[in-house]
Amino acid sequence: MAYHWPANTLFRELTLEVVDRTCGECDHPRSVCCHRHRRFFTRDGPVQLLCKLCHCSNPACPGHQTTVSPEEETALVMPYWVLGWDVFCWLGHRRFARHWSVPHLRAELSDRFAIPLSVDAIERYVGRYQRLLAARQQDPLVLASAYRGAKGLTLTVDGLQPEKGHETLYVVRELGQKRVWFAETLLSSSAAEVQRVLARARAWAECLGLPVRCWISDKQDAFITGIAAEFPDVPHRYCSNHFLRDLAKPLLDADSQAKVQMRSKVRGLRAIERDVLAERAATTAPAATAPAATAPAATAATAPATTAPAATAPAAMPTSTAPTVAEPDIVLDYCAAVRGILNDNQGGPLHPPGERMAEALSEVRQSLQRNLEAKKGGPRRRA
Ligand SMILES: [Zn+2]
Repeated sequence: MAYHWPANTLFRELTLEVVDRTCGECDHPRSVCCHRHRRFFTRDGPVQLLCKLCHCSNPACPGHQTTVSPEEETALVMPYWVLGWDVFCWLGHRRFARHWSVPHLRAELSDRFAIPLSVDAIERYVGRYQRLLAARQQDPLVLASAYRGAKGLTLTVDGLQPEKGHETLYVVRELGQKRVWFAETLLSSSAAEVQRVLARARAWAECLGLPVRCWISDKQDAFITGIAAEFPDVPHRYCSNHFLRDLAKPLLDADSQAKVQMRSKVRGLRAIERDVLAERAATTAPAATAPAATAPAATAATAPATTAPAATAPAAMPTSTAPTVAEPDIVLDYCAAVRGILNDNQGGPLHPPGERMAEALSEVRQSLQRNLEAKKGGPRRRA
């Protein structure tokens, strides 16, 4: 759909002419036969472009029937596009290198370049950028230059499901140059379908004229049969990431059991919080006579960070000189920190979640112990 330009748009005028004025077929001169007007956005504002189209001046030449556009035109903007190349490249770069969302792009186009575009239009241009990028990435000449000097190829294949219920995207990568070769969505993961992907990888390898030294995958059945059929003598290794995950599975099962036990042991947070809140309500009611007792700054300094409980367990209760009314807040902060620790599920095979939980809980216990000792008049430590 053509872009609707507001009536008060200010355009920069630009005129382009055909540079090569000799007909390629009959060597007669080319003459201007008609004009084309176009409008498009650049990063420096809207442009109104006048293209002087030419044809061969010899009526007997087939070139007389066709028009030639100025050579420079597609270097500024592609046919039917409303965005010049500069805006188009900016858009694609921000989307894919900076991972900006479409609403973010839309706001920035409007604020920075005064380009009002709909979400649909932006998505269309982003799609075009992707196709151009894929074509460039897979261009045989670009590929050949990327692999100049390479001695062999190490290929991997894996299936990814973007969302549950979606078809699986099969991605073939080459590890030597760290390059995604291509990706295909397959409706089924049958051996025949997967083999088609592997056959394409073989065609690429043959095109580059390089031997495939090794294949790496998660060794699902379709990969085993497909790679054996397409690459008969090439070793097929198990992916170390999957290997580690499988190896860690019994450990993670035990870790998960430990987590359940810790959770069942550390409970009653809600009851503590209720008691503290009730107590505070009772003590703050007559507090109108003692305004100095409400000292949020004193608690803020020692409050545990509830967002990152494992890393920063509360370190110290206020010293005995601090107002006693501040203490309920600290108890509540401890509760929040412990709740955060119990709900934390971060961590992988090398630092499992249960181990992280145990570490964080023991930090809290040490912190509580320090405070108890401080209260008894024992060693007093600063945070
Ligand atoms: Zn001609």
